[in-house]
Amino acid sequence: MPEITPARSRRCPDCDDFPSVAITTGQTNPDGTRKTLTVTCRTCQGTGTVPRHSAVTATSSGR
Ligand SMILES: [Zn+2]
Repeated sequence: MPEITPARSRRCPDCDDFPSVAITTGQTNPDGTRKTLTVTCRTCQGTGTVPRHSAVTATSSGR
């Protein structure tokens, strides 16, 4: 059976493939646009996937 996801990586369990999100701070820039903070997932370092070995380790650690 063919596997669609590459075997050496899988979707990040922490961010579920949304590794980078913008959060509004409530403040505005001088040009009127909203100030945002871009937060990157620490587990996958913004890639959205994690190496299979790391994912297994993270799951088995159970925290
Ligand atoms: Zn992630």
